[in-house]
Amino acid sequence: MAGVAVIGLGAMGGPMARNLIKGGHDVTVFDAVQTAVDAFDGAACRAATSAADAATNADFVITMLPTAANVRTALLGDDGASETLAEGSLIIDMSTVGADDSMALAADLVGRGYRMIDAPVGRGPLQAEAGTLLIMAGGATADVDAARPLFDCIAERVVHVGPQGHGVKLKLVNNYMSMVGVAMTAETLALAAKAGLDRDTVVEVLQGTAAGRGAINDRFPRKVLSGDVSPEFPVRLGGKDLGLALGLGVEASSPLALGAAASRWFDRAHEEGRDNEDCTTLLLVLEAMDGDTA
Ligand code: NAD
Repeated sequence: MAGVAVIGLGAMGGPMARNLIKGGHDVTVFDAVQTAVDAFDGAACRAATSAADAATNADFVITMLPTAANVRTALLGDDGASETLAEGSLIIDMSTVGADDSMALAADLVGRGYRMIDAPVGRGPLQAEAGTLLIMAGGATADVDAARPLFDCIAERVVHVGPQGHGVKLKLVNNYMSMVGVAMTAETLALAAKAGLDRDTVVEVLQGTAAGRGAINDRFPRKVLSGDVSPEFPVRLGGKDLGLALGLGVEASSPLALGAAASRWFDRAHEEGRDNEDCTTLLLVLEAMDGDTA
């Protein structure tokens, strides 16, 4: 079985390392915090004293760290993995970091004779424990394929999304939608409460409508992504309803910053004469805009 150094044993990296051990790999663990390493006492792995120590005899190094600076330190800093790692080894950064940082790091590592893929994960600590993460891998096909026996221990699904850097880009796109969704849901539930609605009833209803099914699962694949903007729910009605909801927010003194921002895209679609197109036509409006014209 492969020699795998896992650097970063937090909420995600800890359970991932345990699943690699369960999968029979020859795992060495390291974390900057000693208690995180001590938690592996008695596990069938070796506890390292530094990233450099962890990478001795490793075929693969997995990093699962908070920031790009942490990843760079662990790999290229003093006592970093590159001090001992054999040339040709595969480095798998599974952290969520910026694409520019990830690509700059990959260039530096390739310059030292290593291979690197970016393979951030979707889902959270519960799925890390269950071994049911979703991995979005960016890199050369041969390198992603080489990592698959490891990925199979920690993930339910592995998607090779493109060349190096595309994994982290897709992860950031994913988290944009996810975190704006969190803020939007908070705005929505605060509005409902301030408007005097019963919370459980609101949640039950929203889970049963297009609102709760999520536009990416429902409207978008069926309409604009299929090349169809014929009106199922047209811009003119969507914009009207959004305006009414914003009015309810004013009456109820409930802040709706995301809703106000969204109404700009409906206004823009209206100005472009798209009133009778399906509301998913907003995608076409936005794709035609530059950031500085927003
Ligand atoms: P965490 O803060 O729980 O754990 C990070 C660990 O890295 C800590 O134990 C810390 O001591 C260690 N560390 C930091 N710098 C180090 C270094 N230079 N060398 C060795 N160890 C070092 O974080 P987490 O929740 O496990 O997240 C890890 C990464 O996964 C992040 O990039 C995060 O954005 C991403 N992620 C997290 C979740 C989640 O739900 N928690 C989900 C998906 C992706």
